[in-house]
Amino acid sequence: MNILKFGGTSVGSAAGIRALISILREQDQQPYPVVVLSAMSGVTNLLQTMAEKANLGEDYSVELKTIEEKHFEVIRTLLPAAAQNPVYTRLKIYLNELEDILGSVSLLKELSAQTRDLILSYGERCSVLMISHIAKLEFPDAIGVDGSDLIKTDSHFGQAKVDMPLTEILIRDYYQANEGKLLIVTGFISSNPEGRTTTLGRGGSDYTAAIWGSALGASRIEIWTDVNGMLTADPRMVEKAFSLPELSYTEAMELSYFGAKVIYPPTMIPAFLKRIPIVIKNSFEPSFEGTYIRHDVQSSNLPIKGISSIDEISVLNLSGSGMVGKAGFSGRLFSLLSREQINVILITQSSSEHSITFAVNPADALKALAIISKEFELELQAKKLEYPQVENGLSVLAIVGENMKRTPGMSGKLFHALGRNGVNVRAIAQGSSEYNISVILSKTDLSKAVNAVHDAFFADRKKTLHVFCLGTGNIGQTLFRQLLVQGPLLAVNNDLEVKVMGISNSRMMYLSPQGIDLAQWPQELEQFAEPADLKEFVARMKAMNLPNCVFVDNTASANPVNYYQQILESSISLVTCNKIGNSAEYEQYAAFKDAARKHGVDFMYETNVGAGLPIIRTLKDLMMSGDNIFSIEAILSGTISYIFNNYKDQVLFHEVVKEAQDKGYTEPDPRDDLNGKDFMRKMLILARDAGYPLEADDVQIESMLPPACLAAASVPEFYEELEKNAAYFEGLKEEAAAAGKVLRYIGKLENGKVVIGLQMVDDSHPFYMLSGSDNIISFTTDRYKDRPLVIKGPGAGAEVTAAGVFADIINTGKQ
Ligand code: ADP
Ligand code: ASP
Ligand code: MG
Repeated sequence: MNILKFGGTSVGSAAGIRALISILREQDQQPYPVVVLSAMSGVTNLLQTMAEKANLGEDYSVELKTIEEKHFEVIRTLLPAAAQNPVYTRLKIYLNELEDILGSVSLLKELSAQTRDLILSYGERCSVLMISHIAKLEFPDAIGVDGSDLIKTDSHFGQAKVDMPLTEILIRDYYQANEGKLLIVTGFISSNPEGRTTTLGRGGSDYTAAIWGSALGASRIEIWTDVNGMLTADPRMVEKAFSLPELSYTEAMELSYFGAKVIYPPTMIPAFLKRIPIVIKNSFEPSFEGTYIRHDVQSSNLPIKGISSIDEISVLNLSGSGMVGKAGFSGRLFSLLSREQINVILITQSSSEHSITFAVNPADALKALAIISKEFELELQAKKLEYPQVENGLSVLAIVGENMKRTPGMSGKLFHALGRNGVNVRAIAQGSSEYNISVILSKTDLSKAVNAVHDAFFADRKKTLHVFCLGTGNIGQTLFRQLLVQGPLLAVNNDLEVKVMGISNSRMMYLSPQGIDLAQWPQELEQFAEPADLKEFVARMKAMNLPNCVFVDNTASANPVNYYQQILESSISLVTCNKIGNSAEYEQYAAFKDAARKHGVDFMYETNVGAGLPIIRTLKDLMMSGDNIFSIEAILSGTISYIFNNYKDQVLFHEVVKEAQDKGYTEPDPRDDLNGKDFMRKMLILARDAGYPLEADDVQIESMLPPACLAAASVPEFYEELEKNAAYFEGLKEEAAAAGKVLRYIGKLENGKVVIGLQMVDDSHPFYMLSGSDNIISFTTDRYKDRPLVIKGPGAGAEVTAAGVFADIINTGKQ
C-alpha cells in the first residue's frame, strides 16, 4: 500500500485536482492508497494573514472572500450542479466557524499559538472536504478524514512533537475500521492530549504522509508536488537546476533542512526508521521518474547532490574570555535556547573557543538576545562576556552530498567559486558527518553565490558567462556575430553559454536581466535603449550582481579605462582590446593586475598586441613555466609591415605609402602609423608583461622618417616631403639589397630596454620572409635559444581582433 501526498499547488486549482484524480486512477485500487492533502496553495498564508490582522483589529474580509472563492470555483468546475450544494453548505459551515474564531481574536486582540494553529487548520479541512467529494464521483469508496484526532502531539503549538507510539496505534485502528475505503486525509494538522488542534510546522503535510506510512507499513510514500522531484538547487533561483534521480535519507534531510522546501525535513525520520522509500513526483508531469529517497542508493559520480539556501537568517555572536576553557559553556547556551524553543540553524565556534557564532530565524533573534542577556548577566557584568551582537540580512548556503566525504577539495572548490565572484563568507560550518558544508553570506549575494556554486560543481552542465559589452563599432559588431554563430557549438562542445546582459556605445545603452538576443541586438538597442551613461552602466552591472561576470571594452577610448579598477575590485573579469589602459602609466597597469589578482578575477588583453595572435598568452606561459626571456623582437604594425614588405624593386617609398593608404591599411594621416607610437604602446605592454616596469618615455623610437616628413603641415605636404626624400629611402634600399638584406622596422626588447628602429636583416633572420601586412614576433629564451619561437599572422582587422576578444571571454570561463 502506498501513501500519496498532494501538496498545495497540486490541489491549488481545478487543473491540479483533475491531475490528482487521474494519478489516483493509475494506482492499485485494492488496497487503495492513503491520500494526504495540503491546503490549496496560498490558503495557509491567507489564514496566517487573517489571524495577524484579526489580532490587530484590522479587517480580514478580503482574505476570507478569497479563500471562499478559491474553493467555490473548483466546486463549480469539477462537480456537477446537483452535487455542488451539499459541498457548498459544508464548506460554508467551516468558513463560518473560522469567521467566529477570527471574530473572537479581533475582539480580544489576543492571538495565542493555540488559536493560530486552530485557524491554520481550516486550510486542510476545507481542501479535504472539497476534494473527497470530487473523488467520490469516480471512487465511491472515498471518504474525507479529519486526521487531526489521529496524530497525537505535545502542546508545542506551531511545531508540535508527535507521540509516535500512540499515533501509530490510532492510525492503524482507524485504518482497520475503515477497510476498503479510499481515505483522503488532512495533512499538517494534529492534536494535543486535550484534543486541541496543533500543527506539525509549515510544510508539515509531507510529515503527515510519512507518519501514516510508518503506522501502516506502507511500501512507499509519494510526495506529489509541482516540480520534477528534488533538484540540485531551488529552481526559482537557479535556472539550470536539474532533477536528482536518487538521494539518501541523510542527503534529503540536509538539503531540506537548509532550505529545499520541496520536502519537509522531519518527513525523512519515520521513513528512514521503517526503511520506506519516499518518491518526490510532479503532479503536472506524472510520467517523469522523480526523485527516490531510500536506503542503498547507488553511488553517483556527482561531487555533491545539491545546493540549498535559507534566505533570511540572523546571526548572533558571543565572545569573551569567560568562554575560554569553560567546560559546559556552549552546553549551557544551547540548552537555554532549546528550552525556549529557539531553533539554532547552525553553529560555528572558533578553535580558540573565544567566540561562538550561531544562526537563528530572524523572528527568534531578539528573544534569543534577551534570554542570553538574562542567563549570562553575571558574566556580562564582570565583562567576561561581550554583549552579544545580532546581525541581520544574512543567508545560509549549503552544499550537500555523501560523496563529499570521499572527495577531497570540495571546500576549496566552494570557496574558489565564492571568492572569484566577490562573495564574502561571514562564517563557515561543516557538519561532523561531512555531508554538508554551509556558509553564511550577505543576503544580497545569495542568488549570485548559489548560481556560481552550481556552475562550479556541475561544470559538466552548462556554465553561463554574463557579459557586458562596451562598443558597437567594427569589433563589437563582429564579436556579437561570432557569439551568435558560435553559441550553439559552445554549449555542446564546451558546456558554456555566453549571455550578453548589457550593451553600450557612446550614444546609448541597454541592460537586460533576461539577456540580449544577439540575433537582433540593434533592434533591441533601438527599441529599449536609454542615453549612454558609462557610470550608470557600470553601476547597474554591479547591482545585477551576477555570477561569472565579464566586462568587455571594445572601444579605443580613454573613458572606460577610468572604471577598470572598480570593475576588477567588484570581482568582475575584464577583457579589453583597448590599449589605452595598459600603455598609460606603469602604476595604473600594475594596479589593474593587482586588483585582478586580489579579487580572483581575470584581466585579459590578448588583442592589445597583434590582435588575435596568441602573443600575450605565449609570453605568459613561457614565464609561468620558468623560461627565461632573453629578447623579444617584433613587427607589430600591419601598416609598417606592408610598406617594407613591398618596398622593393623599382617602386619608390612614397608610392608604397600611398598604396598602403589606398588599400585602407593606414590611419587617415599615415604618420600616425609611421611615427611608431602605436607600435611603441604594444612593445611597452609586452615589456611590462615580461616584468619590466617601463614608462612610455623609456622606449627609444628611432624614426624611420626624416624630420621634415614628420614636420609637414598636411598630408599632401607630407607626401611631397616623402618624395623629396626619395633618394634617402632609395639609398637605404640599395644598401640593403647590396648586402643581400631587406629593410624591416623592428621593435626589440633586450635587457629591459626597448628600441624601435629600422634594421637590415638577412635571410637567416626570421623576419626576412615576412609578407603582406602580417605581424611577427620572435621570443628568444632559454628554451628557444638557437631557433627562436616565432608567431606570425595577420595582426589587425575586426574579424581577428573580435576572435581574440572572444577567446579571452571564453578563457575567463575556464576558472
Ligand atoms: P507543495 O505545495 O507541493 O508542498 P512546496 O511549495 O512546499 O510544494 O515545495 C515545492 C517547491 O519547492 C518547488 O516549487 C520549488 O520552487 C521549491 N524548491 C526549493 N528548493 C528546491 C529543490 N532543491 N528542488 C525542488 N524544489 C525546490
Ligand atoms: N498547508 C501547510 C503549509 O502551507 C502545510 C503544507 O502545505 O504542507 O504550510
Ligand atoms: Mg510543501
